[in-house]
Amino acid sequence: MSCPFFLPQHILDSSAWNPAPRLPLGEAWGGTCCAPPAGPFDPREDVVRELCNMGYARGRCEFFPAGTVGDAIRFSMRKGATEPPSVVYVIERDHSPIEHGDFDPGQTASILAAQGRAFIESHKRLRES
Ligand code: SF4
Repeated sequence: MSCPFFLPQHILDSSAWNPAPRLPLGEAWGGTCCAPPAGPFDPREDVVRELCNMGYARGRCEFFPAGTVGDAIRFSMRKGATEPPSVVYVIERDHSPIEHGDFDPGQTASILAAQGRAFIESHKRLRES
């Protein structure tokens, strides 16, 4: 589950973890925090690895806005090989779902869309490796 404000933009080296944990987006992603009203910025790599990729940053990350409804976004691939892949998303708060739906890979301008595309890209790469 990734932070709802995390815009994944590039793959990070996973060798910092040994063994690598099961990562919400499939692989470790670097990217941008879109939370601050002053504008997006690229958090430190340790923050990206421990909070942005893993979600549930409320009270742990100084940039996480207190009034935010969701704590994390989780993606899951439906069984069966379809192209494009069939993916569902769940937005969680306190480890309970507060919103869910089918992910539309045609979505363009949202953080959820960017995370969904990163999830699909990572799963494709991991399947082929
Ligand atoms: S964990 Fe913190 S720094 Fe990372 S995207 Fe969320 S609010 Fe921003």
